Amino acid sequence: MDLSTYDPVERHLTLERLLTKLDGEVVARKYWRFRPDRWYGGVATADCVGCGLACKFCWVKSDVLYNPAGTGSFHKPCDVASKLKSIAISKGYRQARLSGGEPTISKSHLTQLLRELDSFQPLDFILETNGILLGHSREYASELSEFNFLHVRVSLKGCDEAEFRNLTGASPIGFKLQIDALRNLVDEGVSCHPAVMRSFSSPESFQHLKERLSEIAPELAGCLEVEEVIMYPRVAERMSRIGLKPKVSCRPGKVPKYLV
Ligand code: SF4
Repeated sequence: MDLSTYDPVERHLTLERLLTKLDGEVVARKYWRFRPDRWYGGVATADCVGCGLACKFCWVKSDVLYNPAGTGSFHKPCDVASKLKSIAISKGYRQARLSGGEPTISKSHLTQLLRELDSFQPLDFILETNGILLGHSREYASELSEFNFLHVRVSLKGCDEAEFRNLTGASPIGFKLQIDALRNLVDEGVSCHPAVMRSFSSPESFQHLKERLSEIAPELAGCLEVEEVIMYPRVAERMSRIGLKPKVSCRPGKVPKYLV
């Protein structure tokens, strides 16, 4: 193993111990805000604390990523569900999501949250994930298959192992886990699609990724969503500090419609 990298699975599991606590019979998790948001045409959003990757283009505040112990507060699944429902009702939204960190940290918390939301149909739930834990455990993907109002969006960090390593600093095996997450979800019958951060990729690696996705299921390549880095001030500052330059990017106030 390349010792200059970190193990993405181990890092997610280590963070789980910091970000969760038993509250009665359920697992509470840390969140840092609840809000309405513009994506997907309007979505009730709960921003959770902490992520086991360290993407160099990440938009999330440093405190949330690197000081999870000192950030946010613990919320039980019923509390999170209630806040999401309340935002959705007040704004007339039909969708909810977790963002602002990695929502798959703590399977117990997430699945209990989904059970709470199950009673609030027709609210659809979009799980935006880096896929590391779903690639690591097919059982996790299997448990998600019981929720028919769930759609999983796996956000790939680059088009191949080398790009993943460069963009996250993690062991390149993490990219295979991201691909395996899609394989596990497809095999378990969970609605899902891949997205890819393409701002740092070559046309060749993008094409190769599509071929790789087709080998899992032809429709995955067809519904591959393209992400471009949005140059929020903290993102621009982070990338400039390490000399990372995107091939394509957009400004916060000028995000093209096809990206929203
Ligand atoms: S996976 Fe998402 S939240 Fe985690 S570091 Fe990367 S961009 Fe940020």
